[in-house]
Amino acid sequence: MDPYTRKQNIEEQKAVEAENAENWFDRVPTPSYVVDENLLISNLKILQDVQEQSGAKILLAQKAFSMFRVYPLIAQYLCGTTASGLYEAKLGREEFGKEVHIFSPAYREDEFDEILTVSDHIIFNSFSQWDKFGKRALAAGAECGLRINPECSTQEGHGMYDPCGPYSRLGVTRANFKQDRLKGLSGLHLHTLCEQNADALVTTVEAFEKSFGQFLPGMKWLNLGGGHHITREDYDRELLIRTIKRLRETYGITVYLEPGEAVALNAGFLVSSVLDTLHNGMNIAILDASAACHMPDVLEVPYRPRIVGSGQPGEKKTTYRLGGPTCLAGDIIGDYSFDRALNPGDRLVFCDMAIYSMVKNNTFNGIRLPDIVLNKADGTIETVRSFGYEDFKNRLS
Ligand SMILES: *Cc1c(COP(=O)(O)O)cnc(C)c1O
Repeated sequence: MDPYTRKQNIEEQKAVEAENAENWFDRVPTPSYVVDENLLISNLKILQDVQEQSGAKILLAQKAFSMFRVYPLIAQYLCGTTASGLYEAKLGREEFGKEVHIFSPAYREDEFDEILTVSDHIIFNSFSQWDKFGKRALAAGAECGLRINPECSTQEGHGMYDPCGPYSRLGVTRANFKQDRLKGLSGLHLHTLCEQNADALVTTVEAFEKSFGQFLPGMKWLNLGGGHHITREDYDRELLIRTIKRLRETYGITVYLEPGEAVALNAGFLVSSVLDTLHNGMNIAILDASAACHMPDVLEVPYRPRIVGSGQPGEKKTTYRLGGPTCLAGDIIGDYSFDRALNPGDRLVFCDMAIYSMVKNNTFNGIRLPDIVLNKADGTIETVRSFGYEDFKNRLS
């Protein structure tokens, strides 16, 4: 699979480059994840508009972005959070408030009582889990739902992110659906998209309605999961709004969306410094930011992050292979060209690093975790959290 670049919002990118000219990137420690409050707010306004026009309720999927320093801000716009397990649910309850939804492929007996104390909606992945935990969930006052698998793949070549692929463990297929066991369930949940536009949602909803639409009357809600790239410039928001309105009107249900990426898309950066440069058949620069530790999706998806002021290899004057400070040979971010030679101390700013970054980083090789920084709407910079040796040591024994 070829690395690809996430589509960037050109207007925002220009704003960022203008700000860069004023050198605010020079004022933060490196490496650091810098979330830009204004860029985040512009995403939140788009999501708020979708909520108002469609009548849907939108939740933050914390799996993608859990910077709880900004939860009070996000809570001014969205209806709540969704969690992949107990810890995210607790975080949502403690720091965000509002609605807390949870989905897990299988719940643990030793966590379930605590899950009940923090969750409003509990989504089950199978009828056996519903049988095992449903009574307790209902007794605790939770609304219960079932994740279904509409068996409609809309992503090509991304098996890693396709819950509708062969032998998927995620969601109940029509063949496994037991229509005599729905009593007590108040909704259905599906999550099948990844970085997709509204056309893929329409295709999915059609497949869903064909197999499962007959079970919606009598239900209170339908949760359409995440993967909707709503805040991307080319996203067809009108089509999304029409689709949601039709579902609400046809079935008399509340529609939930739970995007992660769309909330903080293009709203954060990873600011790094060059530590050394070498030459071995080509120019190489070693950075204080690592693909393996600090942006694992660059290797896992894989994808090519944008760097402010850079070009494709060969496009600008000098081309470098950028690598991290670990001893992993494959800790390579990619090849980029620049207008001038890189030197130790130079800063490189990676774009779109708010999502799936802080939540996935690690201290492999004992590499320090990037600081978490907020570039506030009032122009001040707040270092929210710095990490050190103790954070590395505390996860080991
Ligand atoms: C990953 C996930 C999300 C969020 O997906 P994004 O691609 O970040 O929008 C929402 N719901 C569920 C169940 C998920 O697994």
